Amino acid sequence: MPTGYFSCFLQTLVITNEKLITIICGIGEVNLRCVNHSLSDAALRFLERMAEELGLPIKKVEVCPGRVIAIITWVGSRPELKSVVLNSHTDVVPVYEEHWKYDPFAAVKDADGNIYGRGSQDMKCVTIQYIEAIRRLKTAGKRFSRTIHLTFVPDEEVGGHKGMETFVKLPEFHKLNIGFALDEGLANPTNAYTVFYGERNPWWITVHCPGSPGHGSRFVENTAAEKLRRVINSFLEFREKEKHRLNTSECFTLGDVTTVNMTMVKGGVAYNVVPAEMDVSFDLRIPPTDNLQEFEEKIKAWCKEAGEDVTYDFAQKHMDQNFTCTEESDPWWHAFSSTCKAINMTVKKEIFPAATDSRFIREEGLPAIGFSPMNLTPILLHDHNEYLNEQVFLRGIQVYERLLPALASVPPLSGEE
Ligand SMILES: [Zn+2]
Repeated sequence: MPTGYFSCFLQTLVITNEKLITIICGIGEVNLRCVNHSLSDAALRFLERMAEELGLPIKKVEVCPGRVIAIITWVGSRPELKSVVLNSHTDVVPVYEEHWKYDPFAAVKDADGNIYGRGSQDMKCVTIQYIEAIRRLKTAGKRFSRTIHLTFVPDEEVGGHKGMETFVKLPEFHKLNIGFALDEGLANPTNAYTVFYGERNPWWITVHCPGSPGHGSRFVENTAAEKLRRVINSFLEFREKEKHRLNTSECFTLGDVTTVNMTMVKGGVAYNVVPAEMDVSFDLRIPPTDNLQEFEEKIKAWCKEAGEDVTYDFAQKHMDQNFTCTEESDPWWHAFSSTCKAINMTVKKEIFPAATDSRFIREEGLPAIGFSPMNLTPILLHDHNEYLNEQVFLRGIQVYERLLPALASVPPLSGEE
C-alpha cells in the first residue's frame, strides 16, 4: 500500500475512533478532520489522550523509522508476576468509497444502531472496548495482581514486518514479561463467539518449469507448458480433496484444512515461440496441526513427477506449529473460558484461516487468543460497508469487564513464586 494511503487511513481511523466513542460512550465532541500532521502522530495523540484520561503511563517504542508502538500500562499489585497483554493494531485497509452506503470514515449510525466505518470490526471496536473496560474497572476502584499492558501496533494489515514482527525481537517486548495475550478475532453471524487458538501457515510458492524451446508450428517435445500442466493438475487435485474434506466434515472449519489457490502464471514471449520456461505461483494456507515437513515432501514429489528439472522456491514460508493450549487444565484458558461460561457466552474454538499479529506472539512461545466479541454479526472485515451494531459493541465492553479481572487475577503459576 502506498505510504500516502497508509497515512490517510490512520488519520481517518483516529476520526473513527473519536466518533465511535462520541457516539457510543458519549465522551465529548472532537474534530480532528483539519489536523495537519502525519497520521501516526494523530493516532498517537489520540492514545496519549486516552492514557491521560485513564491516569495511566504511556510508553512509545519506535520499532522502525516512523513506526511507533504505544504501550499503556496498568501496573498490578504484584508486578513481578507475568502480565496480560491486550493487543490491537491501529491501521486499516483501503476502501472503495463508491461501494459504501455512508462515508467509511464518518462512523455513521443508522436507525438499527449499526455503526458503519472502516475498522469498525477490524479492530478499532476492540481497541475502544479494552480502553473503556479498563476505564470502568479503574473507576470502580478495582486493582488486580497482574499488570495489564495495552499494546497498539502499526502495520498489521501489511504483514506486521514493521510492527509486531520486529517488536517481539526487541528487549522492550521481553520487558513486558508477558504471561498471556489477547488479540483480534472475527465476527460470528450466530449467537456464538469465535475464539482463535492458532493460525494457518501461509506458503507462497512459485514453481519453475523449464522446457525445450522451438517453433510454434511443430510438436516440440519436453515443453514447459506440459510440465506446467502437470504441476497445476497436482496442486488443483489436492485443492479439490481439501475442499471435499471441508464440505463433508461437520466439525471442520476453513482453519482445519489446507487451501490452495493458483494466483499467478508467467511465461512466453510470442505466439509462435515455444517458451523456455513457464512459472506458476500458488497461495497455500496450511493448518499448524499438519506435518509441514511431510507436506513439503508432497510438493517435491509433484514437481518431480512434472519433470526432473522442475524446481520451486518460496516467497513466504511459515513453519509455525505453535498453538495456544485450550485445555481446561491450562490456567489462562481456564480463566478465559470459565468467565465466558459464567456470562452465558457460547464459545467456538477455531484455527484462524488467515494471519494476524498473534502468530508472532505465539512464535515467541507465549499463549495468545484471538478474540473480538462480535456475535450475531456478519463477517465484514476488509469488505464494503463494514459495520458493527452498537448493542454488540456495548456488550463487548461488558465482556472485557469480566474477562480482564479473571485474567489479571490468575494465581501465581509454578515458577512465578
Ligand atoms: Zn485486523
